[in-house]
Amino acid sequence: MYIVFLGAAGAGKGTQAAKMSKALKLTHLATGNLFRQIQVQNTEIAQLLRSYMEKGELVPDEVTIRMVSEQLSTPDSASGMIFDGFPRNLNQAEALDKALAERGKTLDKVVYIKVSEGELLSRIGGRWVCRKCQTPYHTVTAPPEVWGKCDQCGGGLHQRADDTEEAMKKRLDIYFTETASLIDYYTRSGKLVEVDGEGDIKSVERRIAEALNKTAVRPV
Ligand code: AMP
Repeated sequence: MYIVFLGAAGAGKGTQAAKMSKALKLTHLATGNLFRQIQVQNTEIAQLLRSYMEKGELVPDEVTIRMVSEQLSTPDSASGMIFDGFPRNLNQAEALDKALAERGKTLDKVVYIKVSEGELLSRIGGRWVCRKCQTPYHTVTAPPEVWGKCDQCGGGLHQRADDTEEAMKKRLDIYFTETASLIDYYTRSGKLVEVDGEGDIKSVERRIAEALNKTAVRPV
């Protein structure tokens, strides 16, 4: 089973995709997390990723698509995958369709988490992320048990370099000009499931599970 989680930065894609991947026992591929792991290294590709990510710009498609294809070729991905933060434009969406088709697979569903722009900005402003495992927290809506420490792995929490006001504006801009066109693309293919992403994490999780159940993709 192959599922895409679609939505703007701050919509809750990462949190919900992690929960769903556990429930469905699927590998969770978050391209942002993958890039953040690579960008701390002292390599040419790390430098390239950093130069785009710091500004809130998209990493070039050719790099992104190659890395996703590599992940699709790992044994863990053979039974399915949850994509979070990929695809982000039409070119990437077509490349994903093609990469899956080459492996005799197809995309099953696209979960679009819809959140108002005002809510997105307030969520990003309060976001803290674990340096080690990248679990996201929020100062108000999802604080860790011990402030500054990750509940999952004990790692230290920090604010992402691209959660600044300037980079955030750029990311939302790109979302509305490039990524939002995917809503049409996946509506036309009959794969889009729209879910209201406002409210607490549990309520959104329940809505996603219900929406997928209705479309015969059953979280266990
Ligand atoms: P995210 O963690 O999903 O908010 O992604 C953080 C940053 O990683 C983005 O602002 C981009 O610079 C880069 N990135 C993540 N996914 C993609 C993608 N599918 N295509 C291009 N750049 C990406």
